Amino acid sequence: MSVLFSELLVPGWADEKIGLDAVTGTYSDGSSFNLPCHTADPEMYFSEDDLAVAEAKSLCGGCPVRAQCLEGALSRKEPAGVWGGELFEDGRVIARKRKAGRPTASEVAEREREAA
Ligand code: SF4
Repeated sequence: MSVLFSELLVPGWADEKIGLDAVTGTYSDGSSFNLPCHTADPEMYFSEDDLAVAEAKSLCGGCPVRAQCLEGALSRKEPAGVWGGELFEDGRVIARKRKAGRPTASEVAEREREAA
């Protein structure tokens, strides 16, 4: 299953689509936490700008449910966005977004290795 960006704007999407109700709540001392991606600009998590993506990844670094989020994104083969501190494209983790134009020779070689 994947989540479309437009679905992020639907109230309750997290509970319904990816079960975040299971990973949000309170710490044992009773204090509650907010997910960084719920309080920051969501565009940052789906930005084409490397700096914005880096900032989103950085915010994930302090997230109390990072591991669960990453595991879920991997299992859903997320098509895009920053999840669990990693950038996804076509269901796999990538180091950075490829810019428009031809892929570099090393990118072609990497994709061929992955396809083999
Ligand atoms: S790890 Fe997941 S839940 Fe936490 S801030 Fe990042 S995207 Fe949001």
